[in-house]
Amino acid sequence: MPQQYDLILVGTGFASSFFLARYLESAAESTSVLVLERGRVDRHSWQVENLRNSSFEGEAHRARNNKEWVYVIGFGGGSNRWWACTPRMLPSDFRTRTLYGVGRDWPLDYEELAPFYDRAEELMSISGPNDRSPFPRTRPYPQPPHLPTAPEELLARAYPEAFFRQPTGRARRGTSGRPRCCASGTCSICPIDAKFTVQNELAHVYHDPRITVEYGAQVTAVGTAAGLVDTVHWERDGELHEARGELVVLGANALFNAHILLRSGFDHPMLGKRLCEQVGRNVAVYLDGLDNFQGSTSVTGHGYMLYDGDHRRDRAGCLIETFNIPTLRCDKNRWRQVLRMKFIYEDEPQERNRVELNKEDDSVAETVYEGFSDYTQRGLDALEAQLPELLAPLPVESIEIRGLNQTEAHIIGTTVMGDDPKESVLDRHQLHHEYRNLLVLGSGCFPTCAPANPTLTLSALTLHAAEHLLA
Ligand SMILES: Cc1cc2nc3c(=O)[nH]c(=O)nc-3n(C[C@H](O)[C@H](O)[C@H](O)COP(=O)(O)OP(=O)(O)OC[C@H]3O[C@@H](n4cnc5c(N)ncnc54)[C@H](O)[C@@H]3O)c2cc1C
Repeated sequence: MPQQYDLILVGTGFASSFFLARYLESAAESTSVLVLERGRVDRHSWQVENLRNSSFEGEAHRARNNKEWVYVIGFGGGSNRWWACTPRMLPSDFRTRTLYGVGRDWPLDYEELAPFYDRAEELMSISGPNDRSPFPRTRPYPQPPHLPTAPEELLARAYPEAFFRQPTGRARRGTSGRPRCCASGTCSICPIDAKFTVQNELAHVYHDPRITVEYGAQVTAVGTAAGLVDTVHWERDGELHEARGELVVLGANALFNAHILLRSGFDHPMLGKRLCEQVGRNVAVYLDGLDNFQGSTSVTGHGYMLYDGDHRRDRAGCLIETFNIPTLRCDKNRWRQVLRMKFIYEDEPQERNRVELNKEDDSVAETVYEGFSDYTQRGLDALEAQLPELLAPLPVESIEIRGLNQTEAHIIGTTVMGDDPKESVLDRHQLHHEYRNLLVLGSGCFPTCAPANPTLTLSALTLHAAEHLLA
């Protein structure tokens, strides 16, 4: 007879860990929780020594169209590898259909999510600016902002309403779990463990006596009976297992949550569809007589000059990142006279881009990506003409626009949330419309793909979902 748990939680990334932290706050002493994690615990010291984030060797997904999707299989998931840039979405990002006639409105708005943004920022000790901000805030950031570079100071002066210091989980001040950022610019494997990860700030939740954690445990499917999910099937080293749960929470990210549900035989016209991420393009700005790289972390500036406004009726909005990673210029005595900028465009999710079951081997998630939207392409096409005026506050010698990035390392869509069960897989609290004891967490639920990096928002949504469920 399979063992019965109050909660079965899949994965140990941001979504699962934030959910678990909140769940345990209100759970009784006698509560039993099973956590199933496909990867192993690869400690920070192991990652630095081996120059990789995970010892996982298998093939988790196969891309049919050569499009890269990046994630980490292992304890802490993507937190091991992320760069820790943590903007909120703008209030308008939740209402692009109403405001601009594009995409879908979210089933909740900024005001509803704001307290959960606050809490997620607190849990990750986010550093950010308190004097000026592109989104409404009622509380200060837990940590002061990072130091800017000289070009960023010029941009902030020229664009007081649109250029800010970047909010980030790369520590400005040491916390009990990690030291201050060393600004080495190697954040995917932080050499000193200064960015927020599940390992350095939230591992303690997995040591709670109410929890059993199984590592190397790949969840393959969930089983249903009487309108509820009642069983979770998992596999380790070729051996099949099952467990029964009152509440089942998937936090395996937008690729694998959808894959698990497809393997379970779930059938909804939107399941697996609308797979997307932002599209980024780097620009090198060669400066005339102005030295760069005075900042105190890897990415120090955020520009909203091309982000929001009426242009979004026609073409994608764009978030600008300015970098402080010391990539020098090959000109004697002018090594530091260069600024790297990244222009990150939103996408309009397309149903043709999707996760499917691989026909030969359904244990592998297959991704099909036929390209981003024309809306995004129009945003990208406008950039060259916009740059001279945009960069006028800087002493520009020349501008080099580089090719499109292969990936922004975000995974969005595949289990969209909404109010209408015909148009969406999940409700506004990330509960499955049909199976009401199944919660599907992470950026898979996003109805649109705003320019902002998704992880702070998915963490806030997780806390919002947990609060609703536990209330
Ligand atoms: C290089 C890089 C840089 C990034 N930088 C940023 C950034 O600056 N800002 C930002 O907002 N985002 C960033 N991201 C994205 C961020 O990492 C993800 O948005 C985030 O990790 C998603 O969180 P999650 O909890 O939904 O899923 P994940 O963190 O992917 O966690 C999923 C968990 O589920 C486990 N799992 C998967 N399948 C199964 C299964 N079948 N059974 C059991 N367990 C399973 C995995 O091992 C993992 O523990 C970056 C990502 C990368 C790769």
